[in-house]
Amino acid sequence: MTTTPPTQETEPEDELDSALVTARRQLERAATHVDVDPGVVTRLKHPTRVEQVSVPLEREDGSVEVFTGYRAQHDDVRGPYKGGLRFHPEVTAEECTGLSMWMTWKCAVMDLPFGGGKGGIAVDPKSLTDDETERLTRRFAEELRDVVGPTKDVPAPDMGTDAQTMAWFMDAYSMQQGETIPGVVTGKPPVVGGSYGREEAPGRSTAIAAREAVDYYDRDLSETTVAVQGFGSVGANAARLLEDWGATIVAVSDVNGALYDPDGLDTHAVPTHEEEPEAVLEHGAPETISNEDVLELDVDVLIPAAVGNVITADNADAIAADIVVEGANGPTTFAADTILDERGVHVIPDILANAGGVTVSYFEWLQDINRRQWSLERVNEELEEHMLEAWADVRDEVEAKDLTWRDAAYVVALSRIAEAKATRGLWP
Ligand code: NAD
Repeated sequence: MTTTPPTQETEPEDELDSALVTARRQLERAATHVDVDPGVVTRLKHPTRVEQVSVPLEREDGSVEVFTGYRAQHDDVRGPYKGGLRFHPEVTAEECTGLSMWMTWKCAVMDLPFGGGKGGIAVDPKSLTDDETERLTRRFAEELRDVVGPTKDVPAPDMGTDAQTMAWFMDAYSMQQGETIPGVVTGKPPVVGGSYGREEAPGRSTAIAAREAVDYYDRDLSETTVAVQGFGSVGANAARLLEDWGATIVAVSDVNGALYDPDGLDTHAVPTHEEEPEAVLEHGAPETISNEDVLELDVDVLIPAAVGNVITADNADAIAADIVVEGANGPTTFAADTILDERGVHVIPDILANAGGVTVSYFEWLQDINRRQWSLERVNEELEEHMLEAWADVRDEVEAKDLTWRDAAYVVALSRIAEAKATRGLWP
């Protein structure tokens, strides 16, 4: 069944922004800086479709439960929809729609031939056994079979899903189609068509964005202090790379709190969320501080890499870093963004900084279609190249129009989408 896509217009500022409100507001803002047909902006406020499906599951005790799944497809003018599938109790049609719009901007700013999608099932993955998760995933793949595919819509892992989930999804889809089609999803294990370097890619791109920002503002990485909130896939990979490149990582945190050492931590010795969940504090350090304090440390670079909406109007005045690099999606609210801009704090936006994930997903899709695996070295080299190109495109807009990095990134994305829409035309 296809649900009626959410249609309400942008609401007034709600401090903890919903993804849809944020996505529409950012579109409107970007449109004021680009010479774009207003009809294109109107079209981009609405997703192409939001597919809603019922996913029945036989539980281990023989009872049957039905879960609701969604796939929001925002825009595919530049190529197949691309974006994650999450298993989380709070998944809704509206949230998927907003997040699918973010994916449209992220793919466009990276100049990838994809549009934006996002989906998931409203379920607590911790309440499922492995067998139940597998059955639920396979049935979800079947329910979505008509709307996904390597040239239609290519899902990826997200909150509550992982490489194994993608392997089950790919297997179920392939069995029904009668042939092995690895390109239907990305983020798979390398043995079934996944790409080397995919897991580390969002952290790697976040580190590259931080390195470029430090260089742009005439600093030396070897004299740069960094604080990282969240020591999961994004935060730990970014922290470790920046340390390897010479930066001093003075704080890292997980949900329980933060380690702080003004002389620098050995981030390779601190267990990541994957290695040992929520165990950051078990590693010794001169001091431990709260998660909120991490955000307010007097460092050169702050990397929020845990959850959204952590820099708000309440603490934006207390942010002491000169540069904020958004490893997480949406860590800075709209109100906080304005305050940081007025205070001269440079914010490198999520759609650029953590876009390494979707960029290496694109590489994975290319490898699947060509049936040829790339080495890790090639993946990292091409990611570096893509990041530097996107960085330069955004920097040019920052300089030409005197924009914030966020506005400049949206301008780059919207310009590309609008040009593609104008060239393809509207079939009225
Ligand atoms: P993860 O689950 O691997 O790690 C999350 C880390 O944040 C953990 O250390 C956890 O303890 C910590 N954390 C959780 N809640 C917290 C809180 N309230 N305060 C402080 N710390 C908290 O997650 P991840 O994959 O690294 O994702 C982190 C962020 O990056 C999310 O916003 C995600 O959407 C975004 N992101 C992830 C990817 C990816 O492919 N992994 C890609 C792009 C963006």
